[in-house]
Amino acid sequence: MSNREFRIVIVGGGIAGLSAAVALRAENRDIKVLEKSAQLKEIGAGISLQPNASKQDLQDILKEAAIDPKRPGRPVSILTSKNVCYCNTAEGIVTTEDGSIFEADLVIGADGIKSRIREFICGDKIDAMPTGISAYRFLIPMEKIEAETEFTRHINPRDEFTTMVLCHDRRLVMGPIRHGESFSVVALVPDEKMHEDSSHTNWTSSGSITSFLDSFSVLPTWLLKPFQNITSLGLWQLRDLDPLDTWFKDHAIVIGDAAHAMLPTQGQGASQAVEDAEALAAFFEDIESRPSAEDVQARLAKVFEARYERATLIQKYSRQQGKPATEKNSIEIQMKPEEFAEFNYSYQGAKQWLENAQLKRMRSD
Ligand SMILES: Cc1cc2nc3c(=O)[nH]c(=O)nc-3n(C[C@H](O)[C@H](O)[C@H](O)COP(=O)(O)OP(=O)(O)OC[C@H]3O[C@@H](n4cnc5c(N)ncnc54)[C@H](O)[C@@H]3O)c2cc1C
Repeated sequence: MSNREFRIVIVGGGIAGLSAAVALRAENRDIKVLEKSAQLKEIGAGISLQPNASKQDLQDILKEAAIDPKRPGRPVSILTSKNVCYCNTAEGIVTTEDGSIFEADLVIGADGIKSRIREFICGDKIDAMPTGISAYRFLIPMEKIEAETEFTRHINPRDEFTTMVLCHDRRLVMGPIRHGESFSVVALVPDEKMHEDSSHTNWTSSGSITSFLDSFSVLPTWLLKPFQNITSLGLWQLRDLDPLDTWFKDHAIVIGDAAHAMLPTQGQGASQAVEDAEALAAFFEDIESRPSAEDVQARLAKVFEARYERATLIQKYSRQQGKPATEKNSIEIQMKPEEFAEFNYSYQGAKQWLENAQLKRMRSD
């Protein structure tokens, strides 16, 4: 290895990209995040982070941690309005629509469910597919939900839990966000039971409040009543990916939704992105200067080995949890929900996962 700096280009400034930037920060590392939006977008409503990641008003905190000069390691550069359109994985070169060219030892595709980097790694354009489920998402000011006494008799909106209500084939995932300032609701409904069309070209749009209320009229009155006064709501057609054959090639790897987009039925998408970032940091931990191409390859293979089985199982289970809408594309996983919760939350990091897997193999040989 030479003393030259380790160059890392991260495509996408969402939770996966920013988590990787923070986790990989170190001296003698030049880390650039290329984000296509003019500014880093907020996700738009609450997402629940499960105990295997951690709780934070996340994207803002990650951005601050990435650029903060007082933290250990060299601050990350975040470049906005950089829409990546090409990646040469063998050379570690990334090109943006405005003609800028970036060269890196490690390219991390954290560019979400519609990833561009994925096609340069997998060799084919692999699109996410509709799952048969759509999601409404909205926020209610905490004082308004607390004024609904019928509702608060059943659910304390300030409890720092994710509350899930299953009702026939509909599902509500709810909880407080921003230190109890607002109450966040994600409401999942099979496409065929919706009273409007969610298949807009960019998959996200504003929903109709009347159609939402009609679609969820199966809910008990006490549960539906606080939702009658909302003023706006987002509508997502939920898509996911089949497990990819690989996540890496040459100098490049995909992480987060770009690698394993999954249904939010278990609230694990962002947590899995954070776990990917931890794995990258763990396997590149001791790199203090520019690594060879072979070294990068070997370390990416370790990241893949440590992360693929777990993320893929969670991805499949999240689809299974969307039944009956996802019935025809589900591969049955024989685990009880409580076993799965234990599997999700007992994760101790990528290196520990590999050690455990090796021990298991030795015992079974
Ligand atoms: C309705 C709904 C509810 C959800 N609820 C939860 C939940 O409760 N808990 C949970 O853990 N997860 C939840 N998720 C999933 C979670 O939001 C995602 O898994 C997570 O945000 C993925 O992060 P990411 O960084 O991989 O992708 P993204 O958040 O999509 O970020 C990708 C970034 O890359 C940028 N980008 C894209 N293409 C390019 C390009 N060509 N060049 C440069 N930049 C590019 C984008 O602008 C974006 O900033 C939910 C998802 C939905 C749709």
